Amino acid sequence: MDIISRVMDLKTSLKQTRLKGKTIALVPTMGYLHDGHLALMRQAKMDHDLVVVSIFVNPLQFGPQEDYQVYPRDLNRDAELAAAAGVDILFTPLVGEMYPRGHQNMLTFVDVHALGERLCGVSRPDHFRGVATVVAKLFHIVEPDGAYFGQKDAQQVIVIERMVEDLNINVKVVAVPTVREADGLALSSRNIYLSSAERQAAQLLYKSLDLAKEKLGAGERDAAVIVSEMRRILAVEPLIKIDYISVSDPADLAEQKIIKKTALVALAAQIGRTRLIDNMIWRESAGVNSGADQFAG
Ligand code: AMP
Repeated sequence: MDIISRVMDLKTSLKQTRLKGKTIALVPTMGYLHDGHLALMRQAKMDHDLVVVSIFVNPLQFGPQEDYQVYPRDLNRDAELAAAAGVDILFTPLVGEMYPRGHQNMLTFVDVHALGERLCGVSRPDHFRGVATVVAKLFHIVEPDGAYFGQKDAQQVIVIERMVEDLNINVKVVAVPTVREADGLALSSRNIYLSSAERQAAQLLYKSLDLAKEKLGAGERDAAVIVSEMRRILAVEPLIKIDYISVSDPADLAEQKIIKKTALVALAAQIGRTRLIDNMIWRESAGVNSGADQFAG
């Protein structure tokens, strides 16, 4: 595996790859890799000849009070894990390489307006602008055939898919099912912030989604009923402060009052100083269970 930190060096290397007729996959990450990230890499490797993983803690997507400075970083460990997952190139730019004038001096942004303003966008107003901008930059640098994202960040997938469509970017966006701990907690680099009591509390997030699944399976279609049942489960644990619970249409993230054929049930909660998110996509009589996040009712 090559480790490359300069944009020009990466472009030069990938030009050779393309000349040989090989396909390229990109997996954007912020590092501190876990099995969720590795699932994306393995899927990318199955689908493409060469896999580029970027590790970049993107300052543009963090709010002023958020954890940019303390976000966990361990490049040596990440390099070992990525190499073992079959990654060909690890792209590890410094902030100055991605934002040569400084990220505060950026004048050009990609803003996927309504989609970035809902759900997590309410409490993280510039987050998806930062995500879409850095992913657009990575798409231009790497020019991948396929790009791999986790369903765990469902809103991110929807924002990126829309950006790709609106801007005619020639890449296939692939969403990979959420990888979870045995008790259902979605893997996240931020889980290491949790104390043992907080970690214990955090399992209720998945339990509340599981209850939503059960209710939907039993025919409940009133979103308010589902949300209040989920709140009831989470209220048992005083360590959990709910940011939002949302039942939306995955096509446009518009809230649904009466659930139709598909619903994105998503939540965000603060547990201690850690903000965690999780979600499930429900499809009416999906017939096949197409992934860990999707269930038929
Ligand atoms: P991050 O490093 O948190 O920005 O995540 C990089 C990519 O890994 C994103 O596309 C995430 O959605 C994805 N990802 C993070 N956690 C998981 C998980 N538990 N399962 C599947 N994908 C994940």
